[in-house]
Amino acid sequence: MTHAEVLRAAGLDAAQLTGGTLPIHSPIDGVEVARVAVTPAGEMDTIVARSHAAFLKWRDLPAPRRGELVRLLGEELRAAKDELGAVVTLEAGKITSEGLGEVQEMIDICDFAVGLSRQLYGKTIASERPGHRMMETWHPMGPCGVITAFNFPVAVWSWNTAIALVCGNPVIWKPSEKSALTAMTCMKILDRALARFGDDAPDGLVQLVIGGAEQGAALVEHPGVAIVSATGSTAMGRKVGPKVAERFGRCILELGGNNAMIVAPSADLDMAVRAIVFSAVGTCGQRCTSLRRVIAHDSIRGELVARLKKAYATLPIGDPRAPGTLVGPITDASARDRMLAALETARADGGTVHGGEAVEGVAGGAYVSPAIVEMPAQTEIVRTETFAPILYVMGYEALEDAIAMQNGVPQGLSACIFTLDLREAEYYLSAAGADCGIINVNIGPSGAEIGGAFGGEKETGGGRESGSDAWKGYMRRATNTINYSAELPLAQGVKFDI
Ligand code: NAD
Repeated sequence: MTHAEVLRAAGLDAAQLTGGTLPIHSPIDGVEVARVAVTPAGEMDTIVARSHAAFLKWRDLPAPRRGELVRLLGEELRAAKDELGAVVTLEAGKITSEGLGEVQEMIDICDFAVGLSRQLYGKTIASERPGHRMMETWHPMGPCGVITAFNFPVAVWSWNTAIALVCGNPVIWKPSEKSALTAMTCMKILDRALARFGDDAPDGLVQLVIGGAEQGAALVEHPGVAIVSATGSTAMGRKVGPKVAERFGRCILELGGNNAMIVAPSADLDMAVRAIVFSAVGTCGQRCTSLRRVIAHDSIRGELVARLKKAYATLPIGDPRAPGTLVGPITDASARDRMLAALETARADGGTVHGGEAVEGVAGGAYVSPAIVEMPAQTEIVRTETFAPILYVMGYEALEDAIAMQNGVPQGLSACIFTLDLREAEYYLSAAGADCGIINVNIGPSGAEIGGAFGGEKETGGGRESGSDAWKGYMRRATNTINYSAELPLAQGVKFDI
């Protein structure tokens, strides 16, 4: 299908795709596929006021009824999976299977959120006072601003939106300036769910803001936005976090990663190689959870590198729409240049680089061969997240040293170990082990399921989204004490008789 056919199949019409000032390019061939209208940052007051009015109605609707809208969204996503997946491929350059996988993740989180809409549980707590009962109640918070990155243009929106909606919050979405078209497609799919849902959904329940940092900043700084859930680089989070803190807003930050795998002497190397290749080169190394560092035991490092080099040599690189392609384009020429510059720095640090060259793909796109870099030490460039398929390989002798190396980076998103030694695996998962938000054994660091809480520590920002009890980040907790006695005892035995 041509780009125009993909966009038409997704329901985007010429009026939406032309006449604006924000150019959208496909990484596949660099072609400008649309020029969309930017939301003036000055409109944020109106947008937030609309969202607040929606909040006052939406919060009164019983949560299971709110869940019904998310159930319908899941149905509409199932029906539109191919069309939306194709737009993800067009706009983010993901191979077809990964584009579809991203939509499946949206469907999965909708299913999760529907069940959650009947499980927004609070605790009942033993009171120290006779004739008293304590409990926790969870309430909606207000408008939830969702800022998303280019590399997961739709899944991250759905993680936030499905949960925010069942929790009783309206959503204002500011997608990446590179992925306005997937966002517009999602809004069309949501509109179909809203039409089926009926009048219970207030106007402005989910609004879209198109633009870049300026629009994002206007959302972040607005005192009417109760929650800001921002996904992107650590540089962005460093600006957003203090702004939200300044006004005492709630912030959920999902920022950069620098994910490592330790390969122990007992590791199943067949499995490790497969996990490494998928995690390091999938999505052309442009996942926040992409594998960026392998820390291999010296006894198996040589064999592992040899097997990785062999696997890398067979990787089909090219048009992400073509069956069989495993590595599509990197997002644009400047991302490719950043990759090549990082490799130069690694060389200057004593690294030996295999691969990592600009290669022919579809004319106009930026294509690279993924790189394996054998490093003598974990230098500054290794400690930096370069958003590209670069895999640094280092060696270790003692597990404690490997864990120290793994944790010796500013980021703390995802980590894993390949070992068949139970003691090693448990030590790695213990408090003395990996310091990340996602820690796996015999699985790569990439490709999380929505059932678990997603997010990481340190410069990854500390936020949690998606499954488990991440919903608590979208609600306000009230502690309630009810006195059903005829006395008024004070806690801690305090006497205050009048
Ligand atoms: P980016 O930081 O350039 O942009 C992310 C979003 O933030 C965009 O919507 C952008 O317009 C907005 N933004 C930028 N400056 C802003 C500001 N001052 N105020 C408000 N909004 C602002 O990131 P990117 O290049 O789109 O994405 C890649 C990065 O995102 C990588 O670092 C990757 O690790 C990270 N990421 C993290 C996760 C996670 O869950 N931890 C998921 C996906 C991507």
